[in-house]
Amino acid sequence: MNANKPLVKIIATGGSIAGVGPNRLDYILYPELGEHITIDQSLARIPEVSDIARIDAEDLISVGSTAIGGPEWLSLANRINRTFREEPEVAGLVVTHGTATLEETAYFLHLTVKTDKPVVITGAMRPPTSLGTDADLNLLEAVRVAACPEAAGMGVLTVLNSEIHCGRDVTKANTFRVETFRPNELGFLGYADSDGKVVFYRAPIRKHTTATLFNVSESSVLPRVDIVYSYGGADGLLVNAVRANASGGMVLAGFGGGTYPPAVVEAAAAAVGEGMPVVLASRATAGRVVMTPKKEEQGFIVCDNLLPQKARVLLMLALTVTSNREEIQQMYYEY
Ligand code: ASP
Repeated sequence: MNANKPLVKIIATGGSIAGVGPNRLDYILYPELGEHITIDQSLARIPEVSDIARIDAEDLISVGSTAIGGPEWLSLANRINRTFREEPEVAGLVVTHGTATLEETAYFLHLTVKTDKPVVITGAMRPPTSLGTDADLNLLEAVRVAACPEAAGMGVLTVLNSEIHCGRDVTKANTFRVETFRPNELGFLGYADSDGKVVFYRAPIRKHTTATLFNVSESSVLPRVDIVYSYGGADGLLVNAVRANASGGMVLAGFGGGTYPPAVVEAAAAAVGEGMPVVLASRATAGRVVMTPKKEEQGFIVCDNLLPQKARVLLMLALTVTSNREEIQQMYYEY
């Protein structure tokens, strides 16, 4: 009986999972056209979902995720926290989202949502109007995971292409393939598999959700943090632009294990001297950036193994609670 099924809340934000293309072979024009179906229209395509859960769905916003950033992260986190506070019957929650910034939203919510119940983000690489769309199955499997008691306590998860990933580690690794979401080398957590089962093989151990220091319920704006990318021959121009802008902090996406063109280091060290937290990250797609005596002396912070865009999310949140370098560094080792 449907009345005995768990209640799953869905919060829709737009993205390809709701995208509308001009024909069934359109995989590239629809983001620029910007039309989206509603979450009720998405759900009407998958009546089978009622065998899994009772659904309460709402459209929070309807945008491509290239237009999602700090204000939308705050509003999503607060909407999710309010749901769990005021509606104890909700067993789990799904967010539908564009794939462009899905990984950043996932990490932001992983650090700010205050619940042990399952929170799952999903999206699609092919809009529902296209041949071979992954929108319907991804939404159904996300609901399946959100309704699954074993998904509790894992922080924010992503479910696409039948794979369950940790919101901290997942990254978009391919421009068009449906298997684009990868676990930054660490392995994904499990499957929403073809037999209808949700199966986990591992769990995140870094602190998340209820174990973080972050409470954004009073925040209406996040500190500005910019990322500066390194390339052969880069000078201090972009770092100095960030310095001149008096941003709250800066992330450097450098080479390998944490090296940067000399002029970039010089300008960034000057920013640190002026009091700006600067986090060292890498444009390599996996692995740690580690502390050295020189970096310590220069006052830099290292990102551990976070990708630059994730290191930025953590710095934005860290700055809501402290500007102390050692405390911020510790967060990169714990979160
Ligand atoms: N432009 C889309 C977005 O991020 C891409 C997608 O959803 O896959 O919203």
